[in-house]
Order: sequence, then C-alpha cells, then structure tokens
Amino acid sequence: MSSTAPAKMLGGAPFRDSRIESVDVFQLSAPIPPAKQHVSDFGKVSTFDTVFVRITTESGLEGWGEAKNAAGSTGRYGGLAAILREDIVPLLPGRSARDIQSIWELVYNGVRAGHANRAGRVFPELSRRGVTIAALSAVDIALWDLLGKSLQAPVWQLLGGRRKERFPAYASGGWADVDGIGEELTGYIEKGGFSSVKMRVGALDGSPELSARRVKAARAALGPDVQIFCDAHGTFSVSEAKRFCRMVTSENIGWLEEPVTGDNKRGMAEVRCFTDIPIAAGESEFTRFDFRDLLDLRCVDILQPDMAVCGGISEGVRIAALAAAYDVPLAPHLWTGALGFMSGLHVLASSPTGWIVEYSLGANPVLHDVIEESIQPVEGCIPVPDRVGLGVTINTDALKRFVSRENQS
Ligand SMILES: [Mg+2]
Repeated sequence: MSSTAPAKMLGGAPFRDSRIESVDVFQLSAPIPPAKQHVSDFGKVSTFDTVFVRITTESGLEGWGEAKNAAGSTGRYGGLAAILREDIVPLLPGRSARDIQSIWELVYNGVRAGHANRAGRVFPELSRRGVTIAALSAVDIALWDLLGKSLQAPVWQLLGGRRKERFPAYASGGWADVDGIGEELTGYIEKGGFSSVKMRVGALDGSPELSARRVKAARAALGPDVQIFCDAHGTFSVSEAKRFCRMVTSENIGWLEEPVTGDNKRGMAEVRCFTDIPIAAGESEFTRFDFRDLLDLRCVDILQPDMAVCGGISEGVRIAALAAAYDVPLAPHLWTGALGFMSGLHVLASSPTGWIVEYSLGANPVLHDVIEESIQPVEGCIPVPDRVGLGVTINTDALKRFVSRENQS
C-alpha cells in the first residue's frame, strides 16, 4: 500500500448523512416511596417528573434528550410536552440529525430563521425563554447523543475532549431541622465519600435566623474541612439574604445559591456586593443571553446552567464560554433525570472552568432506575464515561413504568 492510500481513503469516503425519521415524547412521573420523600419549600416531593424525548433516524439510531421546566422535582409537564408535540416535533422529520445548530436556530427564530441566518443575528420567537427553551433543550441533547453514537464517540470528545477523567462532586440535599441537619449531612459523606455538601436554606426555615442556626449546626457536626454550600432557592428578600450572610460569615460557606429570585438580578448583585460569600445562580435562567446578564450585572461568582432548561448542550457550551471569559467556575445544575445529568457532566468535563458536579441525595428514580448503567460517586467524584453519546442506555421497560403520557409524531 502506498503512503498516500490512507489519506486518499479518508478524503474520498462518502459523508453518511442521517435523517430524522421520528420523534417520541415521554411525560414521566416517577413515584417516590413515602420513606424516601423529603419536604422543601416546594412541598413534599412525592414524584420526580420530567420529559424525555427520543429521536430515531432513518438508519435506526436513537438519541435521547430531557427537558425540565418545573422547580424542584415535581411538575405537570403538560405544557412542555404539548409544545414539543405540537410546535417543535413537526419541524424535525426529514432533517439531518447532524444539523444541530440549524435546528436550534430554527426553533429559536421560528419563521424568521432565514432572516436570522442571512443577518447573522437572532430573530427570536416571542416565546424566547421558559418552556419553549426547555423543550428545545431536549431536542438539542438528543441530537448530540445521536451525533456521538453515529461517530462512535462520547459527547465530551465531540466538545473538544475531557479535562479530567473524573470530577469532584458535592452531595446535594440538606433539608433536616437544626437537630437533624448534622446527622443528615454526615450521612451523605459516609455514603459517597464527598468532601462538599449542599443544604437548603431560606423559605424552608421561615426566617434567616433559623437558616443560620441550621448552618451553624451543620458546621459544628461536619468540622472545618467539609465545604458547605447553601441553596436558598431564590426565596430570601435582599435584606434577608444580607442578614443571613452576616450571621454565617464565620462558617466558611462555599457558596450561597440563588439568594434572591432570578427576577431580581440587581438585588442579587446587591447581595453579592454586601458579602464575600460567593454567589451561585443559573438554574432558573435560559439561553446565553440570560447568563450574559447575570455576569454583566455582577450577580454571580459561579454559573449553574441546567442543560435540560437553558437550551441544551449547544447553549451550555456557549454559556461555558461566557463563564471562561468572565473567569468564573461552571458548576452545572444537575437536579434532573439521567439525560440532563449526563448532558451537564459532558459540558462541565470539556469546559475551561468546569468545576464540580451536583449529585442529588434526594430520591430520584429517573436518575437511577431508567438506565442500564450506574451513576454513582467514587471517592466523592463522578467519572466521565468513555461510552459513546451521552454514555447511558435507556431501559425502555423501566422507563415505561414512569410514563404518564407518550406521544409519537
Ligand atoms: Mg438550586
């Protein structure tokens, strides 16, 4: 064989396109056994609800994606599923499954996608945030999963490679009262070898004073070497958040997450200016534009996009680039099913400022019980898998147990 043969073969190989044949939408509602339910400011969490999408190509490959639009774990998801079924799915059959960016722009810009393409800027639909973007996220994630499977590569490799083979994780939970919070968080560490934990504060407690007492109890139980993050779910007022920060200033808090609502970005910036506790936010935000505003308004020290909310892996990569440009760590929100979790892991692993993985200690059947593989911490870290696509295999029999409504295009 001549030395030029391999190059000739590669250059001359036909490009194998893969067209979308069908799209299925699965509304999921997975019951949580009473003994495993927790109570937060979202109420008692008795189910884990989300939407999965399956895109099948003419060649028979399947890509899976996830969309979330409800805070916490529960929501009806009828509106999100309807947007997928009625508005987005009909756009997809016959298109190349590899035209990920074109499909993203088509959904975002709607009938003016052609204008956007010609002008090189966005011409978005009125519904350019919220449920529509969550629905778009599921399609985008499924297309990245398909691309990885068709090229026999993990998504992280398509995004430029992973920076490490495993990333540190934090145990996310912490709802117990003053007397129980130490034992609850200590139990997380014994279970997964974590060196970082997250506890809930804010409306769950009814006052910043009680939240501060719980944090002090947690610190007393955990000692000085465990990193404690606090998540207020956006429920403090600006003045309450300041009081809370002042009261826990000696507890060495790793971050305060969503101190105030995402609807009050200047208020969040005011809290950040008041305290040296790092401020984290992003799970309630959509698209690169919202994250640019968080950064421009000086609201945050850590960005937390949720790939099943913010616009999928494509938008997550753009948000990660913003994080890098503004020199802030990326810590994706991963309170999702297995597909949202893996999407965030791939973006984190390939991003310059990707930092730490959220690992839910709330009961979550859609994270653990619908896939063939296991997502478990190893010595407090989550491995970035070598498997193709998102790296998880949906067990459709297991999934069917949780389907509240299924539709095929
Ligand atoms: Mg949160």
